[in-house]
Amino acid sequence: MKLSLVIPCYNEEANINVFYNYVKDNYKDVENYELIFVNDGSKDNTLLKLKEISSDKKHVKVISFSRNFGKESAMLAGLKASSGDYVCIIDADMQQDPVIVLDMLKILEENDNYDVVSTYQETRKESSIISFFKKSFYKIINKLSQVDFHQGVSDFRLFRRQVVDAILLLNEDNRFSKGIFSYVGFNNYYYPYIPFERNAGKSSFSFKKLFNYAIDGIISFSTKPLLIPFYLGVMFLIATLISLIILLCHYDLLILVVTLILLIAGLQFIVMGIIGKYLSQIHIQSKERPTYIIKEKINLK
Ligand code: UDP
Ligand code: MG
Repeated sequence: MKLSLVIPCYNEEANINVFYNYVKDNYKDVENYELIFVNDGSKDNTLLKLKEISSDKKHVKVISFSRNFGKESAMLAGLKASSGDYVCIIDADMQQDPVIVLDMLKILEENDNYDVVSTYQETRKESSIISFFKKSFYKIINKLSQVDFHQGVSDFRLFRRQVVDAILLLNEDNRFSKGIFSYVGFNNYYYPYIPFERNAGKSSFSFKKLFNYAIDGIISFSTKPLLIPFYLGVMFLIATLISLIILLCHYDLLILVVTLILLIAGLQFIVMGIIGKYLSQIHIQSKERPTYIIKEKINLK
């Protein structure tokens, strides 16, 4: 059995040694593990720190990007490089306890019917406004998308090899992992955990970054927004009809003008909606996602 930890690192110079030593101390009983650190274009001495610990050739592997590509890209590179039977994505800042991973591992080893252990934060240490936006995001995306998004689940997850291979089948450029992890399916065990405070450094995710990330997520996993003009068009045409009825009962030049404006606006929106429908098909096709993912075959090669 081999366990891989994928660790995206952006400006984590003060955390690398802490993380590494903590794992070394607590993973003594793990028969085989690898730590894949992905340096995501850090501007501090993260790479230097990684080079220092890479003398531990058995356990430490390092990928370093030419610039900051974002956590999504770092996770992807790490998953691609991983060779474990079980693979876990974990932050470098010690907010997520590497010892919990061993507990998660036990769940998968003891239960054949689970393929992924996804952690979620039971209590969130964040402002009520951020909390409100996050909740709204999950409501909206679950309404708009066919993929199921579980509220509050983080990227801190442990996968069986088979699930990692499925995730890697999705070779889209604009990656929204929360969606991709849900899209591939398989059976999730939801594991509650309480994140620690960041060991050192500061969070890279501002409200603006999270907001843009949320919008990206919706666009990647739903094409319904492209149909908004179509529904607007239908509403305008209904308004046109009402206006036309008023016009027939009571001729007035102003009402005639209003009716014409409503009609033209309605037709324009309908046409935009039709274009949106075509665009949505191209959008989905351009992602080249697999049409299905097989979990098991019985009596078949
Ligand atoms: N991270 C990364 N690239 C980035 C931003 C963050 O690889 O562009 C890493 C970061 O080093 C950490 C993890 O992603 O290991 C989570 O980031 P952070 O702690 O800033 O986020 P938060 O815990 O506030 O959600
Ligand atoms: Mg953090």
